[in-house]
Amino acid sequence: MKIIMLGAPGAGKGTQAKRIADKYEIPHISTGDIFRANIKNGTELGKKAKEYMDQGLLVPDELTVNLVIDRVSNDDCKNGYVLDGFPRTIPQAEALDNALTARGEKIDFAVNVEVPDENIINRMSGRRACLTCGATYHTEFIKPRVEGICDNCGSTLVLRDDDKPETVKKRLDVYHDQTQPLIDYYSGKNVLAEVDGTKIMDDVFADIVKVLGA
Ligand code: ADP
Ligand code: AMP
Repeated sequence: MKIIMLGAPGAGKGTQAKRIADKYEIPHISTGDIFRANIKNGTELGKKAKEYMDQGLLVPDELTVNLVIDRVSNDDCKNGYVLDGFPRTIPQAEALDNALTARGEKIDFAVNVEVPDENIINRMSGRRACLTCGATYHTEFIKPRVEGICDNCGSTLVLRDDDKPETVKKRLDVYHDQTQPLIDYYSGKNVLAEVDGTKIMDDVFADIVKVLGA
């Protein structure tokens, strides 16, 4: 099953994508996590990506598209995958479609996690991220067992640089301008599923499972 997660930054794509990946035993591929790992490791890609990420802008398609197309060509993706944070532009979606069509494959579901802008700032200012394993928590809604420490790997949790309110505002503008048009794009391909992302995490997941099948 090949799944794309759509939704504003902070809507809960990553939270749900991890649960989908566990339940359906498919890889979770987050472009944001890939860029953050590159930044942490000081790679050339990481240095370039950081310039854009810190400003709340998208990393250019030239640096993003081939990375994902190569990743989904790996052996572990043969039974499907859940893409989180990609595509974020129409050209990215078209490039992915072209690559899949060339292999006789297609996206099965694009799950749009809907959360209004009013809720997003609160979600993002409370988000705490583990930059070692990619786990995500919330200071109010989804707390780790020990404050500030990742349940999975014991690393210190951080407020992401791009989750500061001034950057979040920019990211929301970029989302509405460049990413939201993907909702119509995937609706036109009859693969769009919409879920209410304002519900509690377990209920959002239950709604997603209803769409994907148990
Ligand atoms: P995205 O991947 O879409 O940017 P995340 O999955 O990282 O978003 O979620 C953003 C923040 O909101 C995180 O702090 C996460 O723990 C929290 N969160 C996710 N889903 C819910 C939910 N249903 N209710 C409340 N908080 C949530
Ligand atoms: P995320 O972890 O999905 O919130 O992504 C964090 C940041 O990484 C975004 O604000 C972008 O700067 C960058 N990024 C992640 N995925 C993409 C993508 N598909 N295209 C362009 N930039 C991306």
